[in-house]
Amino acid sequence: MTTFLSGIQPSGRPHLGNYFGALRQHVAASRKAGEHFYFIADYHSLTTVSDADELRDSVRDLAATYLAIGLDPERAILFQQSRVPEVCEITWLLSCVTGMGLLERAHSYKDKVARGIKPSVGLFTYPILMSADIIAYDADVVPVGKDQVQHVEMAQDMVTHFNTRYGDVFKRPEYRLAENATMHKVLGLDGEKMSKSYGNDIWMFESGKKLKKRVGQIVTDSRPPEEPKDPDGLFLFDLLALFLEPSELGEWKEKVRVGGEGAPGYGHLKLRLMEAIEEHFTEARARYSELMADPAELDRLLTRGAERARERAVRVRDRAYAACGLR
Ligand code: ATP
Ligand code: MG
Repeated sequence: MTTFLSGIQPSGRPHLGNYFGALRQHVAASRKAGEHFYFIADYHSLTTVSDADELRDSVRDLAATYLAIGLDPERAILFQQSRVPEVCEITWLLSCVTGMGLLERAHSYKDKVARGIKPSVGLFTYPILMSADIIAYDADVVPVGKDQVQHVEMAQDMVTHFNTRYGDVFKRPEYRLAENATMHKVLGLDGEKMSKSYGNDIWMFESGKKLKKRVGQIVTDSRPPEEPKDPDGLFLFDLLALFLEPSELGEWKEKVRVGGEGAPGYGHLKLRLMEAIEEHFTEARARYSELMADPAELDRLLTRGAERARERAVRVRDRAYAACGLR
């Protein structure tokens, strides 16, 4: 049986990039035959979030979001990372077989440092914790966004190093990308990759005036509607492409390409995007609000999920401890 595993950090509310690049993919994968583990990576969030209440809220928020978009907590094991402390024990085992050079090559670390984030040791060793997350459940397949591929490759390297030293202990995971490449890198308000930490994101359940304001902030230029434009040079269309049917998208593009009297301006396109976002998430947004109104039920589900996940992690940890002489 194939075991699928994925996780996402509870650092801020999930945005459209997280949805198309990760959450939606996880829910789609969870409907396939096999075993499914989906976790809320709160240990990871400590590398960036320092407010305890904010972290607690974000965990519930993310759990509610997963359930609202259709994750079935009976089929899939949904849990909070820190409820399975065995991942930290496995992290240490992996740390002892991982060279500094491997971590120094991590893109996510280099990107964050380049953006002026002062790195902690935790940020630096993050890929080891992430590898432990995968390995602790004997995962075969990890559905990921493109920016996470390198992390799974690092997990593969760590498994190889560990198994070379101690025998066939850990399972080697494979990554799986979304089939549709437009979802690999959803762009944010400024045309750069949408990211919580860059403040260029749109919360997936944003609506009404707040959504209007956010969409209004998408960067455009000052060319008038009549001026013919190459639609493929406008990243606003990349966002529209996530929501509109190809035929409708094609019509809008054609009007922009031709220009002239009655051609849509950026305001029109933004209004259409706003409507499309609201409509796409109508049901999920309502379900999300219901779930958020019952935190006790969310906590109950997470506790149950953690019990199921932990059973597996304890077995894997025991196997690894025995192999390296700790038992
Ligand atoms: P941070 O700024 O803290 O790195 P983030 O917004 O980039 O946060 P992550 O927690 O790094 O979000 O990513 C969570 C998941 O969402 C990952 O699987 C990642 O691949 C995916 N993801 C994040 N941003 C995008 C994006 N713009 N387009 C597609 N997928 C994305
Ligand atoms: Mg990121």
